[in-house]
Amino acid sequence: MVWRTNSPRKLAITFDDGPNPPITPKLLALLERYEARVTFFVVGRFAHECPELVREIVVRGHAIGNHTATHANLFWSTPTQIREQMLRCNEAIGTITGTTPKWFRPPWGMRNPWVISSAKGMGMRTALWTVLPGDWRVKPASWLIERMEPIAKRANFSSGGTGNDSHAGYGDVLCLHDGDYRFLNADRRATVEALQYWLPRWRDVGLEFVTIDAAVSLPAL
Ligand SMILES: [Zn+2]
Repeated sequence: MVWRTNSPRKLAITFDDGPNPPITPKLLALLERYEARVTFFVVGRFAHECPELVREIVVRGHAIGNHTATHANLFWSTPTQIREQMLRCNEAIGTITGTTPKWFRPPWGMRNPWVISSAKGMGMRTALWTVLPGDWRVKPASWLIERMEPIAKRANFSSGGTGNDSHAGYGDVLCLHDGDYRFLNADRRATVEALQYWLPRWRDVGLEFVTIDAAVSLPAL
């Protein structure tokens, strides 16, 4: 299981619960501007409904992860139900992109003893996060911007090199949401605005924006 990156210079931004027609394209345009590669953990049924968005995510060089077929709470699921949720999401993604996801994120981070091993059995590693600002709440962007402050603080600290930080040697995995797991077309403008604020600032403190793959598989920067 992975929940952080292998370098304080690497920030892995991740989006759960999409794709989402009013928001995902805005994020893709914004990420392009900062040459940021990120990871979208999509819900299978939304991927099925918005195949062109899923294709666009891949075309632009981002990673796609599995976030189950219907955003089920796997804590209460049997091994068979867990496999079914993972398989149906992989099928939706596979049909659209011709590729099989290598990463899985359990809805709400909820898991029981079978979740990680089931994902592994399907060739997927499980990814959690270090920073969860709570962008699913209906709050102004200013609230969200403040909740994301620790990332830049840590990045400054790391480059200062006092070596005394509990995060020393590792970087953050940020968990945001481009959709709402209950329905399509959710309003996530605060998430877009908060990233508009932070992406240039993060770049200025020397952070690199990487997919969850690059977060752990490439040599540390
Ligand atoms: Zn979710």
